[in-house]
Amino acid sequence: MDPSTVIFHWNEEELQHLNDTFVGQSPEYILHWATEQFDQDVVLTCSFGGPSGMVLLDMLSRLGRGTPVVFLDTDLLFPETYALAEAAARRYGITIERRHPALSLDEQSQQFGVQLYEHDPDRCCGIRKVKPLAEALRPYHAWISGIRRDQSSSRSQVSLIEWHARHQVLKLNPLALWTEREVWSYIHKHNVPYNPLLDQGYPSLGCTPCTHHPHNLDDPRSGRWVGSAKTECGIHV
Ligand code: SF4
Repeated sequence: MDPSTVIFHWNEEELQHLNDTFVGQSPEYILHWATEQFDQDVVLTCSFGGPSGMVLLDMLSRLGRGTPVVFLDTDLLFPETYALAEAAARRYGITIERRHPALSLDEQSQQFGVQLYEHDPDRCCGIRKVKPLAEALRPYHAWISGIRRDQSSSRSQVSLIEWHARHQVLKLNPLALWTEREVWSYIHKHNVPYNPLLDQGYPSLGCTPCTHHPHNLDDPRSGRWVGSAKTECGIHV
């Protein structure tokens, strides 16, 4: 089936019907559906920071359909994150497409000033995350993401399946309704590799300059962009 015909066939009512159907199903069921519908036209983005992406990577590997995996490398990630991406590629026997920003850090500094993340983090995320994601998603018709409703108030309304207007893709969030506890239960049950920094007081991981220990233990993302009102890098909004 040509995926382009699938996307444009679905209207709001049909998406709502799919959401209603998926609510009672497992994430594996949603991934099975997505890979059957889209085959190689659906891609998983994995940050190798948080645990949810690792769960989805493991579930997709069990499906064995060779679903493409993209890793957005901002050039500012933790060594543990890079090490996990390499370890996961070996463990699952997959090739992970690593996407870099168009600008190197030096070029970014020359154009916008050094340490852009301090004086204009939105522009920095735009250059190093949002644009590379847009380019990475361009060949695909559907995108699998690990975001969950319980991660933050800004994600509390996320659906299992939705149309992402900016990237013009169908976005699937198979773990949207899972809790942190369910994620870790899966990881321990299936011995899924995860970022060791998650055991060292970093419940949410991104780039090194913008990731700190959370100041509010009830908000796992409160260690991101500390001192600014920013709560999202922009790739999910
Ligand atoms: S998280 Fe920080 S360093 Fe990373 S792209 Fe965004 S502003 Fe830049």
